[in-house]
Amino acid sequence: MPNHLHSPGASPRELEVLKLGVLFDKHFFNGVPTKVHFIPDSTMVGTWVDEQGGANLNIGLDRIQFMNSDQLAFLVAHEYGHLVLKHPAKTLEIQKQYGISSTLDEFMLPFDAKRDYSKLMRDMELQADLFGTKLVMGLGRDPVSGSSFLLGETKSMQHPEGTLRVAKIKSSQDSLVAEDFSKTLSDLGIQLGDAEVFAALAPNGQARFGANDTTVKAMVEEQPSHATHEGYAGQALYGFEVSVMLTVAILACAAPWWWRKTSVG
Ligand SMILES: [Zn+2]
Repeated sequence: MPNHLHSPGASPRELEVLKLGVLFDKHFFNGVPTKVHFIPDSTMVGTWVDEQGGANLNIGLDRIQFMNSDQLAFLVAHEYGHLVLKHPAKTLEIQKQYGISSTLDEFMLPFDAKRDYSKLMRDMELQADLFGTKLVMGLGRDPVSGSSFLLGETKSMQHPEGTLRVAKIKSSQDSLVAEDFSKTLSDLGIQLGDAEVFAALAPNGQARFGANDTTVKAMVEEQPSHATHEGYAGQALYGFEVSVMLTVAILACAAPWWWRKTSVG
């Protein structure tokens, strides 16, 4: 696979993903950053834990290319559901239990084992959907419209049919309590929707993620039907880098005001 370099700086969609990441990292992981890897020419989205125990989120850029804000919010919230609910570790456990180390192994399972294994995997997806629903409700977004991109997805070994998932999201919406982000948002001093601030601050040289996928463990995949083996040509921006950018933005806005205030008279 050619080593694609995509344009310097992050697109508005990438920035929105990163911003949601900062918010969720602060809310669920005491601000410990989840590494976000944007992967060109890929529709794959998923979460995994590296050998140091760090949380990672892969976002195939083709997957988010045409997504609106509601959909991006649901996608990222669903993925954080996998991370918060420790699904990468559970996936490893289940795969070990069923002796699975490749996609081929999954298909080679005897009928009963395949059915049981698939149920365990699909249940995790539904759990992440409900978790994501509570999150996007807390962000004032619509989970049904947000999850609409699932509608075209067919059933797979790991995933229930998209229409079923959206139907469950819709029917659970009224009984779920929206996640309360008010304190986290005030701690961060930001409101969602200021992607422009980040766009203005997008760094020209982002840290590149090494072409090393041997550390990928227990990937919770979003699109197994397209889960071809893809090398890493993605770029990584860490949550704390976004936090630093945000702090710089706040200071940059506050400094002229402070200067005017103190220099008057
Ligand atoms: Zn998922």
